[in-house]
Amino acid sequence: MPQDPYAWIEQSLATIHRANWYRSVQTIHGRPGATVLLSGQEVINFASNDYLGLAGDERLMTAAITAIQEFGTGSTGSRLLSGHRELHRELEKAIASWKQTADAVVFSSGYLANLGAIAALVGKRDVIFSDQYNHSSLKNGATLSGAALIEYPHCDITVLQNQLIQQRQHYRRCLLITDSVFSMDGDLCPLPALLDLADEFSCMLLIDEAHATGVLGKTGAGCVEHFGCTGKNLIQIGTLSKALGSLGGYVAGSTVLIDFLRNRAPSWIYTTALSPADTAAALAAIEIIQTEPQRHLQLWENVTYLRNLMAEQLPHFKLLPSESPILCFQLPNAADALRVSQQLRSNGIFAPAIRPPTVPTSRIRISVMATHQAAHIEKLVTILKHV
Ligand SMILES: *Cc1c(COP(=O)(O)O)cnc(C)c1O
Repeated sequence: MPQDPYAWIEQSLATIHRANWYRSVQTIHGRPGATVLLSGQEVINFASNDYLGLAGDERLMTAAITAIQEFGTGSTGSRLLSGHRELHRELEKAIASWKQTADAVVFSSGYLANLGAIAALVGKRDVIFSDQYNHSSLKNGATLSGAALIEYPHCDITVLQNQLIQQRQHYRRCLLITDSVFSMDGDLCPLPALLDLADEFSCMLLIDEAHATGVLGKTGAGCVEHFGCTGKNLIQIGTLSKALGSLGGYVAGSTVLIDFLRNRAPSWIYTTALSPADTAAALAAIEIIQTEPQRHLQLWENVTYLRNLMAEQLPHFKLLPSESPILCFQLPNAADALRVSQQLRSNGIFAPAIRPPTVPTSRIRISVMATHQAAHIEKLVTILKHV
């Protein structure tokens, strides 16, 4: 009898279970918001990327419905063939104007924006330097590109500089890639130092603003704005799926960069254009963010309030360094993280355990939203005291 070629899958799953790495979906009911219905139980939501509370905003929903009525549900084709709509261009212009770049191009997700941009920009004769904690989409983009990949320890500019001194000259093009807000930690990349290195060693720099768009910087334009680096020549990637409450991704940068990506990024060329509803919702979100700065201010007030309460009432908690609405506290192992997450859950708090292999060390990850009320944050701290 030949061996069952699929038998390994069950064994592999068993290993995942034994390590406490097994994951499954949890059903959310109703609209997204600061509180949600999770399997029938109302919980305070500290697990969402909807930082500004826009995913359940009436105006985004109306924009999406109107777009569906006008343009239908599907884009029906790729952008270069039959899927391009004026709405896509409007969104791209709004992104470019917000980021103060010459142009932008939207992808069907942030993940696809990273895959496509990285694979288009470098190839076999080139090298990528990547922060060890970068998002999966950056890492897989690097693999897809076929370029040599060198990882540097998280945010370690000194090591990166030494790697560049030793390796840069062996390759044609060089690309530095980094998250701007690290998604599972909440800290920021050292952008000014990275820009200096990029200059010195003639490297392109790609920064993924997924968790910074709508969150960091005076107008919410991201980490680039936060560090006063607006106008520098670099490649800014982001998502429409987090603070913008929609679905999709983008690349913003120079005219030639964007024109080149429209001709060379496989995950843009060979996939269906963003749906009219998603496009219109993202466009409405950008308009709201630009005209209602109070949302963004409220988000940061909430972050400060939670930090202060935790420092005061939970001084022994080990918070990872963070400069964003993502706050993580470490636990010794995956089983403990799961247990704490379940205890929080049974007390009406939704905050996920993040475990290997997503991150090297287990933690509880809390995302603050602009629409959290003081009472939500107070309840979180009270419950944390007892678990
Ligand atoms: C969420 C995320 C992405 C993927 O964006 P999607 O639009 O959800 O595909 C990419 N990079 C980082 C850092 C992220 O956190």
